[in-house]
Amino acid sequence: MFCVECGSEERLYGHLCKKCLLSKDLVRPPEHITVQVCQGCGRVLEGAAWKMVLPDSVAASQLEAGTRKHDQVSSVRWQVPYIPPEKGEHKVLCTATATIEGDELALDHEVAIRVRFGSCPSCSRQAGDYYEAILQLRMEGLSARDAEVELAEEHAMVLRMVDEFAETDEKAFLSKESAVQGGIDYYMGSMAMARSIATKLRSYTGASLNESPSIVGQKDGVDVYRNSILVKLPVHREGDVVAFGKKLHVVEASDSKMLTLKSAINGQIIRVRADDGKLRQVARYRDLREAVVVTYDGTTVQVLDPDSMVSVTLHRPPYLKRLGETVSVVRYDDMLYIV
Ligand SMILES: [Zn+2]
Ligand SMILES: [Zn+2]
Repeated sequence: MFCVECGSEERLYGHLCKKCLLSKDLVRPPEHITVQVCQGCGRVLEGAAWKMVLPDSVAASQLEAGTRKHDQVSSVRWQVPYIPPEKGEHKVLCTATATIEGDELALDHEVAIRVRFGSCPSCSRQAGDYYEAILQLRMEGLSARDAEVELAEEHAMVLRMVDEFAETDEKAFLSKESAVQGGIDYYMGSMAMARSIATKLRSYTGASLNESPSIVGQKDGVDVYRNSILVKLPVHREGDVVAFGKKLHVVEASDSKMLTLKSAINGQIIRVRADDGKLRQVARYRDLREAVVVTYDGTTVQVLDPDSMVSVTLHRPPYLKRLGETVSVVRYDDMLYIV
């Protein structure tokens, strides 16, 4: 067989040799394509949905769908390099990989890519203060002023989860957050997200959950309801130091109903009700101090008092099997205790 155009005896693709084939219009990309980018969050419109994807990958699939192929080309894949994030038309050198009878050929084409700015539904709703749920994070006895400091860990957890949800859920945003008496209120665009975040907070902190509709205002004379999820953190948290009766304990586990406590004196484990009147908070986990260990034996540890830097001899709790360079201590009734 010969190439019908040049008579070459090389491998033929249909009736043509490779050289003659390459002189043809093998792939013809569309005149131009348009990529819509949300100015608020950077999501890109792909088909009918706004997605957290790169504009170049959306451009590539648009090119693939709009390219006209020569009869000999069975499939074509596009590679689009970086598209400048500015509005307007950009001439971008793109590479098409055309498959011809099992062989792949790379063909460069300059493509006109128009970048248009838009606003995805999530950003539009956010601008309009849209929300479906209020997640109320609460801890007993907290003032609005202390809320963000005291709840810093949980607050960070909420923000991190909102970010994670935002990758898949358009309504996963916070339209407002505010510190209030007792904690923080989060106004969330997605009810489903609010529920999952509440559930996660419960499993991390032992919080209790309570979901209820609440009236948030009126529209055209009709009450408007939103669901509120109350996430009530236990007063005594894992790692906190409490006094039960007069004896110091470390909270081993807690939920809204029961606490598991470990005696700082003898390591004994007890279970008590969270609302037991003999319970007193002594120190939060993060308020525990570190004291430098000077020397120790089986029953005592000599440490430097972190406030006065004077060395003091303390009882060594039996559960403290290994000693590092420092130990956690707490002051209670003017005495230092290792916990
Ligand atoms: Zn030829
Ligand atoms: Zn957006």
